[in-house]
Amino acid sequence: MDNKLFTPGPLNTKRSVKKAMLHDMGSRDIEFLQVIAEIRNDLLEIAGVTLEEGYDSVLMQGSGTFGVESVISTTIPEYGHLLLVTNGSYGNRIGNMTNVYEIKTTTLSYKENIVPPYQDVEQALQKDDSITHVAIVHCETTTGIFNDIENVGYIANKYKKIFIVDAMSSFGAVPIDLKAIGIDYLISSSNKCIEGVPGFSFVIFKTNSLKGCKGNARTVSLDLYSQWIEMKISNQFRFTPPIQSILAFHKAIEELKLEGGVLKRSERYQQNYNSLIEGTESLGLATYLAKKDQGYIITSFLYPKHPNFDFTQFYEKLHLRGQVIYQGKLSDTDCFRIGNIGQLYMEDIDNLIVAIQEVLVEMGVPV
Ligand SMILES: *Cc1c(COP(=O)(O)O)cnc(C)c1O
Repeated sequence: MDNKLFTPGPLNTKRSVKKAMLHDMGSRDIEFLQVIAEIRNDLLEIAGVTLEEGYDSVLMQGSGTFGVESVISTTIPEYGHLLLVTNGSYGNRIGNMTNVYEIKTTTLSYKENIVPPYQDVEQALQKDDSITHVAIVHCETTTGIFNDIENVGYIANKYKKIFIVDAMSSFGAVPIDLKAIGIDYLISSSNKCIEGVPGFSFVIFKTNSLKGCKGNARTVSLDLYSQWIEMKISNQFRFTPPIQSILAFHKAIEELKLEGGVLKRSERYQQNYNSLIEGTESLGLATYLAKKDQGYIITSFLYPKHPNFDFTQFYEKLHLRGQVIYQGKLSDTDCFRIGNIGQLYMEDIDNLIVAIQEVLVEMGVPV
């Protein structure tokens, strides 16, 4: 049996999803193009928007970062100016991109346990009207914090800025009202809350926003505009598509619908999260974030303050028991992370808690 992955993706997938990959198809196979058409349509449905309302979706090869990079490098014109709001490494990664592409950027940077206040975003927009775009991560997977995209989006729209959201680790399991929030570009990927396998990312966007981006792209392969035009005309990728990953994703969407959609998946993940918190609290483990800011996708835990605690040992002993957790990524605090997305249910969380207790005892850390 495979290990249980308490990671933010890739994650445990359903057998049916893995089985869907047992096919060979050509890039321009009619059947395959039909699958792409259905996925693009389903993504809009999951997002609660339609073509008629002026939204569309594009798939992009590569992991989630490639999708973010395609948006950043295609949609911000040469004269553009990005306001980047960041409180973690995924937000900072967007800053790395604008550095490389020499895109003018103003950064509002916060400590990893702070939800960036939308008032600061308003102030920054008032101070500099050359800003054209605003970007933020929804669930900053570095900690698991949920950022306030509703109010930041409201402000971005109030000042008529293009609003970009990295919803990588939330889309599909956290309801996001694209229309109400006024999101121009939302990015996520195949191997997170939709529970597919890795291989591509996708962007859901306002067609009016991407329409004007012809010729902006600073790379050939990540040109989101050209990819969109190709898909609009023929549902084809411009370069070799990750066929099996797309077949798996198609099945994963079907499974999401069978589960009852975003709301039901959100309920399951929240149940996982609640069990996780209850169990870890009983073992004396403390979370890094304040509960009010903590999302239900992934949780950061402080290292137990005991001289016998050693993360490498902790990780390896859990791994021996088939339980894979995730190391921390914080700039100044020792943490480890436990995700509860993917094919994980309450009994899996219970088993993990038992394993953590055994391992801590084995290491000589009192629980
Ligand atoms: C997973 C993730 C990404 C993309 O990471 P990849 O390793 O490129 O798939 C980007 N942003 C957030 C918030 C994520 O959780």
